Amino acid sequence: MTRKLFVTTALPYANAAFHIGHMMEYIQADIWVRFQRMQRDAGEQRVVHFVGADDTHGTPIMIAAEKEGVTPQAFVAKIAAGRAQYLDGFHIAFDNWHSTDSQENVDLSQSIYRRLRDNGLIYTKTVDRFYDTAKGMFLADRNIKGECPVCHAKDQYGDNCEVCGAAYQPTELINPYSVFTGSTPILKPSEQYFFKLSDPRCFQFLKEWLNTPGRLQPEMVNKVSEWLGENGEKLADWDISRDAPYFGIPIPDAPGKFFYVWLDAPVGYLASLKNYFEKKGIDYEAFLNDPSAEQVHFIGKDIVSFHLLFWPAMLNFSGHPIIDKLKVNVHGHLTVNNEKMSKSRGTGISPLRYLELGMNPEWLRYYLAFKLNARVEDLDFTGEDFVARVNSDLIGKYVNIASRCAGFIAKRFDGKLASSLSDDAKGWIARALNGEVNGNLGERQANIAANFEAREFGKALREVMEVADVANRYVDENKPWILAKDETKTAELHDVCTAALILFRQLTILLSPVLPHVAARVRDFLGDDAYSWDDTQGERVYAPLLGSTIGAYSHLMQRVDAKMIEDLFDKPAPAEAAAAPAAPAADTAAAPATQASDIEELAPEISIDDFTRIDLRVAKIVNCEHVEGAGKLLRLTLDVGEGRYRNVFSGIKSAYQPEQLIGKLTVLVANLAPRKMKFGVSEGMVLCASAKDEKANPGLYLLEPVSGAQPGMRIR
Ligand SMILES: [Zn+2]
Repeated sequence: MTRKLFVTTALPYANAAFHIGHMMEYIQADIWVRFQRMQRDAGEQRVVHFVGADDTHGTPIMIAAEKEGVTPQAFVAKIAAGRAQYLDGFHIAFDNWHSTDSQENVDLSQSIYRRLRDNGLIYTKTVDRFYDTAKGMFLADRNIKGECPVCHAKDQYGDNCEVCGAAYQPTELINPYSVFTGSTPILKPSEQYFFKLSDPRCFQFLKEWLNTPGRLQPEMVNKVSEWLGENGEKLADWDISRDAPYFGIPIPDAPGKFFYVWLDAPVGYLASLKNYFEKKGIDYEAFLNDPSAEQVHFIGKDIVSFHLLFWPAMLNFSGHPIIDKLKVNVHGHLTVNNEKMSKSRGTGISPLRYLELGMNPEWLRYYLAFKLNARVEDLDFTGEDFVARVNSDLIGKYVNIASRCAGFIAKRFDGKLASSLSDDAKGWIARALNGEVNGNLGERQANIAANFEAREFGKALREVMEVADVANRYVDENKPWILAKDETKTAELHDVCTAALILFRQLTILLSPVLPHVAARVRDFLGDDAYSWDDTQGERVYAPLLGSTIGAYSHLMQRVDAKMIEDLFDKPAPAEAAAAPAAPAADTAAAPATQASDIEELAPEISIDDFTRIDLRVAKIVNCEHVEGAGKLLRLTLDVGEGRYRNVFSGIKSAYQPEQLIGKLTVLVANLAPRKMKFGVSEGMVLCASAKDEKANPGLYLLEPVSGAQPGMRIR
């Protein structure tokens, strides 16, 4: 039977761009998916549907959109438009990316709710909620601030105190106020809808579901068992409703009530699958009812209660057919230099900056994979460790084999590999691939496969590197560069280089879930088709290469330059501007009128067509910062209304402090070819005015449109 996998990552909340933690989860899932796609079940290629979506509903997005003066739909559309550059940039191959703000999600969420209600698991209760009379809306815990009832710190949120760490109900705050209007909220009764998790049926189901072997990591089984209590006495009912105004999905037959965002968010997994199947013409219901279908979620440890209590219970009691094949894989968090990432302390890593610096995405894929295992453990990114791991393993051990042997095949044998191998060469290949195991050729690769399957990526890659070590020892001992100097050793040279490339090909196949782009280039070089795990077994280790003609080898990967790591980290937030800005002073206007002779000569006349070739756009400066090591440059992050931000370096450091420019509009040459600079890629140029003689009159004046212009407007 062919396994059919439906794989997801957690849906990111659509109020911000991706951070490096998102990329870690996507890389973990993508490697697992790519590995699965290389497997065959009874001769058939395994089927994998890998989908994601934006999580769009709830108060934070509603409020953020309101602040920007746009609809929540427009707000999330802008965020969604920025997703592809991250996913493509790190080779994350989702089949589909959808949204919880979609018709599929409305239909599925309402249908699940109706079934839960028909099953007697929904009830209503009137509870007192804080209400902002000035704004006319109920307030979430985080929308209320006040004095901590424990330590009396001022301005603490309604759920917990950031000073003393106490957790409490918003009603316990002293002098509470609404963060929107500052007014004192009143308590107003409201009818709320509850999911009856305390129902004995839920406890019975969850207990069985949790304890089915192979479904959850043991530490998760323990943790969730604690939440259940001995007899389910710890399970509390879940308030799934929110009052209008709310950006969300209406509750059927309940005017003015919406599903709490956490009810419809995980339904988004199904909505994305359904949307994908509709595009592909695959029957959604038939898939869910297929006994070979499996549902696999990758999530972080911060959202386990939603995924290990509410979600399986919702699915089970709404009659989800593949509930028996539901697995949830939980990972820890990514820390940087053993600290929780923090922008203000300069310890964050921006995935886009990583790419802008020209760093290879497969370095990060390999490094994270090497550190990942199947447990719920935090994982640390350390710059020095990253450089050492990538340079030692990928360059020193893996790429090195091909770069030392491929040239001889091209130069001395017209690109043709030997058609048979000596016993000595075969012996080395067997040793490399069998490891310590005295079994069939391919046993080691099967072991590596088992580790990939179990998400023990670190173990899998350590074993791949052991294969590389044997291959390198083989090349070192036989020294093709010495053999090449001796005419009588031509056959030996051919033998050694052919065997080394056979091992290099095996390493490539084993690494291809982690390094998909390098693997594609190696396939071109060796004249291979798409790799499957069967290519690591038996005769298929040798057969395709023996006697074949291969292409020209070109270098596959550069070493990491340690200097890149310095530029990778967010700079600490700038200290309060102490010095007076070196900006144009107000009295400039009082200077004598410029004389005609002082201005720069006009450039030769152009036609209107010449002018329209230059695409000038209004750009909003969303961030501006110093560039370490650059005397003249500031780094600008610009919003040009494209749904992504542009990185532009500008030589205006002498004229402006970064904080003077943040939030301002300016003018960007938007179709200028991107320019790779020492500090990263500059995607356009902002316009400045300056005098003819910059030495005598050094002022630089950034152009700023009159207020009202919007990012992305064309200047014509
Ligand atoms: Zn406190």
